[in-house]
Amino acid sequence: MLNVIRNIKVYSPEYLGKKDLLFVYDKIEGLYDSFKASNSCIDVNEIDGTDKILLPGFIDSHVHLLGGGGEGGYATRTSELCFDELAKAGITTVVGCLGTDGVSRNLISLLAKCKELEALGLNTFMYTGSYRIPISTITGNIQSDLMLVDKIIGAGEIAISDHRSSEPTFEELARCIADTRVAGILTDKAGVCNIHIGAGKRMLNLLYDILEKTDIPSKNILPTHLNRNKTLLMEGINYVKKGGYIDLTTSTDIKHLEKDEVLAGEGLKIYLDKDLPIENITFSSDGNGSLPIFDDNGILIEVGKGSVSSLYEEVKKSILKYKISIEKAIKVITSNPSDRLKLKNKGYIKQGYDADFVIVNNKDLSIETVYSRGKIINKY
Ligand code: ZN
Repeated sequence: MLNVIRNIKVYSPEYLGKKDLLFVYDKIEGLYDSFKASNSCIDVNEIDGTDKILLPGFIDSHVHLLGGGGEGGYATRTSELCFDELAKAGITTVVGCLGTDGVSRNLISLLAKCKELEALGLNTFMYTGSYRIPISTITGNIQSDLMLVDKIIGAGEIAISDHRSSEPTFEELARCIADTRVAGILTDKAGVCNIHIGAGKRMLNLLYDILEKTDIPSKNILPTHLNRNKTLLMEGINYVKKGGYIDLTTSTDIKHLEKDEVLAGEGLKIYLDKDLPIENITFSSDGNGSLPIFDDNGILIEVGKGSVSSLYEEVKKSILKYKISIEKAIKVITSNPSDRLKLKNKGYIKQGYDADFVIVNNKDLSIETVYSRGKIINKY
């Protein structure tokens, strides 16, 4: 059956105007000013898109699908994520990762979780490893993980500048990133290392060293949590000026804000005010990760939990509160993560691309319907 969404404002993420979007099974067939089926025998499912906006399906590139945390003992472990939470948040593609705890949560369970979510209708990928170097893998090393496991597109989240990190040396970190990059070349995957940046005073120093002292390109490194505090955000802006890419975390719990934390929507405004390229910044939710707050002595005070719903909420805020254009703002959760992570046929509304999209209300941008691979996975 053909499906046509009529008269809808399309952001590809570039604004294309009001169009009729035709999709067949799980693929976008095309965009038309006014579509007419030439053969009357063909069954056409008509969907009215008047007063609505169509956006590419959202991509969340850093989610603790199995839960995370445990920084305050077993009672502070966070729960596993379920399909409905992602579908409600407009997320059609998700990248799972492990965090502080790479023992009681392991990569085989994460792979099975990715397969579960895929079977239910989402698109899923994952990183090998966790916070720690030496890195734990499924097949024995980073390169064979990328080469043998389709869903593994990179490594991470490897922690640096954090009291919870394994304190990797420059050589250890460089080797990990280099191995990930080479495996990426061999498999035509992104080969990206997702780097967790903590609140430690060394901030991005190790990454500057990698850019200066090795031949590894900046596109293979994606530091995240750069909006953890204002100083770190400014350091991230400096890193972009040297050719780097950065990721801001949307999960914040107003009750569990870190000292001087910048919300992602505001962070995007600060970033764009510096005239930096929109292509070098992404958002991810850190969903179901723990949000522990430590005092100056490293003593745990409180633990919150990240939510995937924050991904689009922060983008929406950057549009409605900070007046960033829809086509710019939406890139940080669609085309940018797709390009950074080399996710084929994702992140754009284009002929031949996967029929992953989110229909939102024209007035307040609230999510109305979410399609993943051509099927409705959530309707408000
Ligand atoms: Zn992290």
